Amino acid sequence: MDEESKSELSAREKRKTEQLAAILKREEGSKLLRKAKKIAAKHPDKRSTKDLIFIHRNERLFDREERCFREQEAARQRDEARRRETHDIDEILDSKCQVLAEAIKTSKHFIVYTGAGISTAANIPDYRGPNGVWTRMEQGQPYLDPNASFDITTAQPTFTHMALLKLHEKGYLKYIVSQNCDGLHVRSGFPREDLSEIHGNMYMEICGNCDPEAEYFRPFDVTTKTRFRRHGTGRFCHRCQHELKDTIVLFGEKSRTESPMNWRSGLDHAVCADVVLSLGSSLKILKDYPGLWRKDHDLYVVNLQWTPKDDEARLKINGKCDEVLRRVFAHLGLTADVFQPTEDRLLRICIPLRDGETFDKPACSPEGVIKPGWFGQGVKALIKPRPKDSENRKQNKKPKLE
Ligand SMILES: [Zn+2]
Repeated sequence: MDEESKSELSAREKRKTEQLAAILKREEGSKLLRKAKKIAAKHPDKRSTKDLIFIHRNERLFDREERCFREQEAARQRDEARRRETHDIDEILDSKCQVLAEAIKTSKHFIVYTGAGISTAANIPDYRGPNGVWTRMEQGQPYLDPNASFDITTAQPTFTHMALLKLHEKGYLKYIVSQNCDGLHVRSGFPREDLSEIHGNMYMEICGNCDPEAEYFRPFDVTTKTRFRRHGTGRFCHRCQHELKDTIVLFGEKSRTESPMNWRSGLDHAVCADVVLSLGSSLKILKDYPGLWRKDHDLYVVNLQWTPKDDEARLKINGKCDEVLRRVFAHLGLTADVFQPTEDRLLRICIPLRDGETFDKPACSPEGVIKPGWFGQGVKALIKPRPKDSENRKQNKKPKLE
């Protein structure tokens, strides 16, 4: 072997030895890290002599890991506490409802934000409540409660929906911004000009080709064939023959239509509002719409779980929406009407299908795992987040103010 080959061989050997040493060092490092994590997670009283020797020898590493463990533990406990439902005891609940009733009575411009919590009494599952889709997924349970109703169109407006209608009729309530797609505010008879359904309405399909947009209300869920970024419903505009689209805004999407979002009116009312009541919303999405929040309005939050606006609220009421509104109505001396299916507003505004037009009845898998339509699409988005969703959400956080 000539000199050149020998030196090449030794250089290769040297590189190999160095690589091996680096691997061993890395492995040793991760072994120490694993051990430090394990000891940090133990209660100090439960640490063995061996553990204490380890801590003594690897003081800096251990301190860092212990700090990290404590922070994670604190975050875990905080999240758990935030998810927990709290119910105010009767006496406190009632005095809070009296304060809210007084605020409504003396308000100049009272508006309401509603979330899924006002429809759970109508058996429509929510996402973040204790039996919500999100929560059940985290607990490794089927996404939907097998006992829950699978046909959302059978849900009817709750006491809260009817109470809000009455407050509007009496002139107290000026406007509702709702995150719910279940259409129950419209079905209760709440006037559409004073309502923003910012995530869409499951009973509404729209022709964006007509100017102004042509609206088609239907007495069925129009979203059974639609999905993320594909909103064609398979039915066509009676005027211009273009395919109709649903109005649902899924996770990661932007609103595509003026109606039923009515953002312009919603934001106009938010600017004038002196009293804002948030009912049954986690406010995790709504908090990101800056136009809805003013420093000088009085905010009242009704929710059983923590919300990110609790600290800013004048009053946080830990109660179910129906129960809170029943008490508020008692203090105001008002009675809400009972919803009559024969007076369902949808029946009056819906456009009948023409010959050859069809729709699918909602159906679900026997296990009740995935539901079609807007609600099922929302569940799917939770299970399989699309890569671009987080990016879209960031861009989408703040609505465009025209
Ligand atoms: Zn059209």
